[in-house]
Amino acid sequence: MSLPVYLDHQSTTPLDARVLDAMMPYLTGAFGNPSSASHRYGWEAEAAIEQAQSELAELIGVNPNDLIFTSGATESNNLAITGFMRRQRERRHLLVMQSEHRSVLDVAHQWEQAGGSVTSVPPRSDGLLDLAQLDRAATDQTAMISVMAANNEIGVIQPIEEVSKWARSRQIVFHCDAVQAFGKVHVPLHLPDLVSLSAHKIYGPKGVGLLVIKSKINRAIEPLLVGGGQQNGLRAGTLNVAGIVGLAKAAMLCFDTLESEAKRLSELRDRLWQGINARCSPVALNGHPSLRLPGNLNVSIEGIDSNAFMAQAHGLAISAGSACSSGNSKPSHVILSLGYGPQRAKSALRFGLGRTTTASDIDTALHWVGRLVPGLRQSSHTP
Ligand code: PMP
Repeated sequence: MSLPVYLDHQSTTPLDARVLDAMMPYLTGAFGNPSSASHRYGWEAEAAIEQAQSELAELIGVNPNDLIFTSGATESNNLAITGFMRRQRERRHLLVMQSEHRSVLDVAHQWEQAGGSVTSVPPRSDGLLDLAQLDRAATDQTAMISVMAANNEIGVIQPIEEVSKWARSRQIVFHCDAVQAFGKVHVPLHLPDLVSLSAHKIYGPKGVGLLVIKSKINRAIEPLLVGGGQQNGLRAGTLNVAGIVGLAKAAMLCFDTLESEAKRLSELRDRLWQGINARCSPVALNGHPSLRLPGNLNVSIEGIDSNAFMAQAHGLAISAGSACSSGNSKPSHVILSLGYGPQRAKSALRFGLGRTTTASDIDTALHWVGRLVPGLRQSSHTP
């Protein structure tokens, strides 16, 4: 069976040989546990963790001791928000954006169920946050705000420096889910108090991520996993050494080519957008036209149903919403949060361009769009 032509989504790209090579020793001969302090295998594994920690810390701009490794950003988001809010005695209000990833929104919901309070603020219609609105939503009970650096569905990049300044001025702890921005665009990730990252969004292995916890607040975090006391007691469990080494290597490779990849992908994305516009007008771009990730294009093609499009576009690997929840066919909560009706959400297609995407993939995508859209429009008009 031939694979569909990717409009690549990072998570579908096989590991780069350089990432695999870096990981391989820790899956074979050097298979020690970094917590084993009494022999060479343990020391070797510990040294590998320390090296990964310092490489990642340098890329992020934080202290290596502030890094906690996790099973991915879902866990990092849970630890950041639940771990912090549970320790709050007086200030029990949490602020989030309505366009956050489900692993933030569901945690916020859980916090509400547990008796805390939550306000979820909609973005503007272009996906950017409105700082004045956040300021109005915050109260003297607000302990934390969670704002993502870049959106996974519409690619919009938030003003992290401004949010950070604002949060500091109101003495609110700032958590940032930076999964989508890290390694793709430069974002001041040294500023938030907590930062979640995931390896598989930067062409690293699945099932590994990290949470930056600035030392000034690490006592304010209640661990969610307890047991062997690893990672200063903040996240117990034996470390995934090979995964962590792979995460660091993948991150360094992304940063090595960040500017050139950003330029290449923006050009391909713009070509895709112009091609869709030329073939299928009326179409609408979801998200800010320039403050967005180079590899993301989210368009609503008027009069089509995106699920019907995907069912027929066998040659394309794309999605309507986020891959994590694309099994459910509910309209995207992100597009709805922009204030448009369900029609706009139901006709939205997300194209993810990445390291393996070529100009010929863009042509293939345009071919499918041009071929399918007229028929889909017609069938949606047929009673
Ligand atoms: N946050 C964002 C913005 C994401 O895109 C994802 C992955 N889709 C996650 C969190 C969850 O990350 P993980 O798959 O590592 O749990």
